[in-house]
Amino acid sequence: MMSALDDRIAVVTGGSRGLGRAMALELGRRGARVVINFRRNEKEARNTLDQLQAAGGQGSLYQADVTDSRQVQQMFQDVFKQHRRLDILINNAGITRDAYFLMMSANDWREVLDVDLNGIFHCSKAAVRIMAGQRRGVIINIGSGAGLVAQPGQINYSAAKSGLLGFSRSLAREVAAKGVRILHVAPGFFKTEMAETLSKDFIAATYRLTPLGRWGTAEELAALVGFLASDDARCFSGQTITIDGGRGAVEAEFGL
Ligand code: NDP
Repeated sequence: MMSALDDRIAVVTGGSRGLGRAMALELGRRGARVVINFRRNEKEARNTLDQLQAAGGQGSLYQADVTDSRQVQQMFQDVFKQHRRLDILINNAGITRDAYFLMMSANDWREVLDVDLNGIFHCSKAAVRIMAGQRRGVIINIGSGAGLVAQPGQINYSAAKSGLLGFSRSLAREVAAKGVRILHVAPGFFKTEMAETLSKDFIAATYRLTPLGRWGTAEELAALVGFLASDDARCFSGQTITIDGGRGAVEAEFGL
């Protein structure tokens, strides 16, 4: 039987939509109390909370921009004040601003690095302070296959997500003795609003290159994250776990 997350306190950044919503629902289904962070979209965040509560879970909403270190510190202080602990942080909030290199503005570069890498620094720092004190906790960083293989047209995103790999490995080593586990999950393609900007031809090519012949579902990613957050995964730390229908393996073999 899978380990429950009963009474664990979890924060999911970017829990208002897409993959973050599915992960928040899964943690709630396993018994965690979930703080659903969002940046702007309160209506969708409330929708996540309604679904979580309808399934018998417990949670709350918290608006904070992960790029703003003061807002992030306040969020974690408030979570700690209310629950007196923090067990799980899912660093999921992320954005894309795709363009080929010579067309990419400095602003596109900065915004993506700010949310997808600097945001994770701010949230992890606030979380590790609490987790190291209680000598227990797990942080799961949601990277991307684009951080592991070459991704033309996405060098900002690719750079941020590759950076996350080094961040996760090094931090895992630094905080292991304090009882804190750090994991890096690199999803392939998943159908969310983020993927809506991709062309039909590109999507068809991703199906051809994926051994399982399809994209992942948010529920499949959420099930992985639920496991990694649980005591069943207590020997996992510092790893990158890909979930991509085998796509990464094919690209490595054929150099595509
Ligand atoms: P979506 O675009 O569907 O959702 C993004 C979420 O991030 C929203 O909840 C949004 O909040 C939140 N967010 C964005 N900026 C901030 C910020 N500054 N502060 C707080 N929250 C913020 O994305 P996905 O669900 O598709 O992606 C989630 C993660 O998974 C990302 O890290 C992405 O890089 C990664 N990923 C996605 C893949 C895919 O195929 N979809 C593949 C590989 C990785 P709000 O609603 O308030 O705007």
